[in-house]
Amino acid sequence: MVAVSKRQPLRAVQVAHDLGLRHFGESQIQEGVPKIKAAPKDIHWHFVGHLQKNKVRACVKHFQYIHSVDSVKLLQRINQIAGEERFRPEVFLQVNLAMDPDKHGMTAESVAVVLKEALGCPHLSCIGLMGIPPLDLGEGETLGFFKDLANLRSTLRSENPEWPGRLSMGMSRDFEWAIAAGANYVRIGTEIFGERLA
Ligand SMILES: *Cc1c(COP(=O)(O)O)cnc(C)c1O
Repeated sequence: MVAVSKRQPLRAVQVAHDLGLRHFGESQIQEGVPKIKAAPKDIHWHFVGHLQKNKVRACVKHFQYIHSVDSVKLLQRINQIAGEERFRPEVFLQVNLAMDPDKHGMTAESVAVVLKEALGCPHLSCIGLMGIPPLDLGEGETLGFFKDLANLRSTLRSENPEWPGRLSMGMSRDFEWAIAAGANYVRIGTEIFGERLA
């Protein structure tokens, strides 16, 4: 479970850390980096937001996981900068299965090509897929969305048996469906911390 602490005060991270949580997520570099610097050092940080090219260096230096790789160019830039900085982030490829225009992510077709590229990148480790269902789906459709993502993962893994193929899927509103469909990482914000600051 990744505790998504975006727009929550540092104090919230400290309390959750005292309770034993060690995986936290942020979705913006400007907000996340100062929090990471002030937070306990034994936290594993996950970047879950849309990553702009000019923020890749800061991201690679401070986050061990990047859930939101949504283009081959971003992948290559992460690989290059991770090499320069001597880090090796674990990344997920973000898939936009529903082709939701409000969301980032690649089509199911392009993710197959980008995965091949990712598995050849020496300075990062591609560990899985990430997806966010459209907000307007009903419960059964949400479960179906997560199962489709799991099936895509299985297809890709049969073509790339060395790939771990983990699934980052599920947020406060839908994590139970995501777990039922085989999520390995759920990204939970408000159900842990309450409402975010404006
Ligand atoms: C904010 C955010 C979350 C957590 O959302 P909640 O609904 O508060 O659980 C998870 N994933 C991503 C990508 C987010 O931006």
